[in-house]
Amino acid sequence: MSRVYNFSAGPAVLPEEVLKEAADEMMDYKGTGMSVMEMSHRSKAYDTIINEAEADLRDLLSIPDNYKVLFLQGGASQQFAMVPMNLFQNGVGDYIITGQWAKKAYQEAKLYGTANAVASSADKTFSYIPDVSDLPISEDADYVYICENNTIYGTKFKTLPDTKGKILVADLSSCFLSEPVDVSKYGLIFAGAQKNVGPAGVVIVIIREDLIREDVLKETPTMLRYKTHADAKSLYNTPPAYGIYICGKVFKWLKNLGGLEAMKKINEKKAAILYDFLDQSKMFHGTVVEKDRSLMNVPFVTGNEELDALFVKESKAAGFENLKGHRSVGGMRASIYNAMPLEGVEKLVSFMRDFEEKHTAQAD
Ligand SMILES: *Cc1c(COP(=O)(O)O)cnc(C)c1O
Repeated sequence: MSRVYNFSAGPAVLPEEVLKEAADEMMDYKGTGMSVMEMSHRSKAYDTIINEAEADLRDLLSIPDNYKVLFLQGGASQQFAMVPMNLFQNGVGDYIITGQWAKKAYQEAKLYGTANAVASSADKTFSYIPDVSDLPISEDADYVYICENNTIYGTKFKTLPDTKGKILVADLSSCFLSEPVDVSKYGLIFAGAQKNVGPAGVVIVIIREDLIREDVLKETPTMLRYKTHADAKSLYNTPPAYGIYICGKVFKWLKNLGGLEAMKKINEKKAAILYDFLDQSKMFHGTVVEKDRSLMNVPFVTGNEELDALFVKESKAAGFENLKGHRSVGGMRASIYNAMPLEGVEKLVSFMRDFEEKHTAQAD
């Protein structure tokens, strides 16, 4: 068996302990004689799995009692529609455009009502987070929407916007469980699992109870109503059962590690190793304004496309996978999610240092 250092933005690296446990339980889950994949979602064994997953997640994030946790399907992208369909009362949403995911959510909301772009960082290729301290929030906005960590561009909101009393809705897909979050500041949080917490196929929604309504947009399908899933405790229909099981294992892994404060410290340490190197390098440069840098996704360039391509090629040969930047940004991107070991980042930086030395010597 040989594992690579996988810097993919998603689906992404998972903790080896979790993968090993899942492998051990593959043929016979705790004496049931079957794998979790083959199990009824109405069985006693599965009931324990999903209940423990929710309890552990509540514990990790200290989720207040007046919030529901939902395990849904359709990816984060389906939430781009579910949010306006379920939350529109006046039919107005205010969106802060910090990248492609926020923009997609904004465009989707326009299908159901009015979406206003109240701030944007499109003018500088989304390399920073706009000032959100005094936004022109619409009087009748049903919510203010942010993408908290911008997976493609590598920016992160370090302070939440002043929503002037409106509900905050946030896409946390690529920073979910990377650090503690005060859930009470949000009306709704959602996160696709495949970035930081599990396999593709699960999206986690944390929603304040009073926002789970009967009177949603008339055309909203049963499956796209939060109420359907909240009333049935995520078991209205067959949930992404195996994916939830793996997420549950990741939650336990995080708890064993000491919870989200401990995880944050590790993430800060990992990110600092990479950013410190980028800041002193003469060849590699980060692309994001320093104060808005993400701990999870780190885009960087050499400024020379051929050299970028060579770096991607040589790094791959050396066992560092998926460092090619998003097609819209170019260059490189290292996603250093929770499960990326510190050693993986150290080795990457050491490889970058060698690459710089080698290719600078040639240029001289
Ligand atoms: C990946 C990603 C999405 C899209 O997720 P899907 O599950 O593929 O729909 C949305 N938002 C953010 C921030 C992401 O990183």
